Amino acid sequence: MPIKPTTLQFKAQERNVFFHLLTACNLSCSHCYINIDQHGAQTVSRETMERWLELFYQPAKQSNIIFLGGEPTLHPDLAHGIRYARQLGYATITVDSNGFLFHDLLARIEPGEAVLSFSLDGPDAAVNDPIRGQDVFATCIANLKKALALGFEVSVIYTVSRMNLHHLERMPALLHSLGVKRFFIQVIGIRGKSAATAETLQLSPDEWLSVIPPVAQEAAERGIHVIYPKVFLAEGEEFACAGEVAENFFIFPNGRVYKCPLCEDFPIHALEIKDNRLVETQGLNEERFFQLHIPEGCVMNKLLQPGNIEYRTDGTPKHRISCCLLKQEMKK
Ligand code: SF4
Ligand code: SF4
Repeated sequence: MPIKPTTLQFKAQERNVFFHLLTACNLSCSHCYINIDQHGAQTVSRETMERWLELFYQPAKQSNIIFLGGEPTLHPDLAHGIRYARQLGYATITVDSNGFLFHDLLARIEPGEAVLSFSLDGPDAAVNDPIRGQDVFATCIANLKKALALGFEVSVIYTVSRMNLHHLERMPALLHSLGVKRFFIQVIGIRGKSAATAETLQLSPDEWLSVIPPVAQEAAERGIHVIYPKVFLAEGEEFACAGEVAENFFIFPNGRVYKCPLCEDFPIHALEIKDNRLVETQGLNEERFFQLHIPEGCVMNKLLQPGNIEYRTDGTPKHRISCCLLKQEMKK
């Protein structure tokens, strides 16, 4: 019997904090979403890291923290940040890394203190390295194996674009052979560098629907827990904007705080941190966009990526586009 996908609905009792500790990175991936003009070039200090972790921790909710960058392991105090988040009471702590694991991270934290998520954009160096950089595949795989051998919980993130779509089908076998139990498939966001080459990178609805679910199915059959964006809502499925019904905060080192990742290339953040306090921004910010309910579903998608909406002859959209934060899971 085929494994059915389940939609992971937004949970009112959960808060997800995506903390970009810095924007610097040792790599220069072709689809990098970091935008120095908007997010600054700073690195948060150890003290700021502590204050901001306190600021976003919400004891009444399940608070989850995801440390990102740039490359978060370039931050010399990442291990401290992980422990500090744990002491505060964050329920889950994840580090999204490009696989280089600087500052000897594996020796400085214990398995169980954080989940390590490795980015791989191909099942081998021939696919991965033209996107992420020379020898990146070998380094990432070597560190991933080391982490698994030490007992860390490990996941892999694969960002799908036209450059690697047709190699995704080889990922389930690779992950199975490595012993990775969690696989995140991401759709390329038209942000940062990829905004300039959107047409050559972005997938059509048919490409997405014909490739992603069968690969997720195969991975799930191999015992891997797969999570991937919903993207298209089926007939009758309700649309919800996470900006209105969920608590997600995307924090940047310059103090900007977004509620929607699609807005990150623009100065329309809903919140900002000033003197370690969270303040609402005034004027036309992302929250004004969330309130515009349209037949196409996600309003930011309609503004930024109208190419992935198809219309019937009567002008109505064929599919509504879901919130980019709405995920599906497949697992045995
Ligand atoms: S590893 Fe991440 S932050 Fe670094 S260049 Fe690649 S996409 Fe950008
Ligand atoms: S992606 Fe669309 S639906 Fe989701 S938070 Fe942003 S604007 Fe709202």
